[in-house]
Amino acid sequence: MPFAQSPSAVPVIVDDAKCIAEKGCRVCIDVCPLDVLRLSDLTGKAYMAYDECWYCMPCEADCPTGAVKVNIPYLLK
Ligand code: SF4
Ligand code: SF4
Repeated sequence: MPFAQSPSAVPVIVDDAKCIAEKGCRVCIDVCPLDVLRLSDLTGKAYMAYDECWYCMPCEADCPTGAVKVNIPYLLK
């Protein structure tokens, strides 16, 4: 599994300005069945650590602040 070097290279993007992980939120990390969302040591916010995704959407749907954006590939739409 390739390690994601740049946040823009992965399909799930977290808006750091909206993410409230510093207040203890772990919703997206907890709901992801593939366990690919992590807490960044650098920013303290959630991010996609591995470019592996089922596009099942609970991370985006359940985030209390709307910080998660899942970019579904064109071919899957
Ligand atoms: S669910 Fe939203 S607010 Fe909570 S950690 Fe994930 S991105 Fe941040
Ligand atoms: S869409 Fe599903 S698999 Fe992809 S990051 Fe969100 S919860 Fe995980």
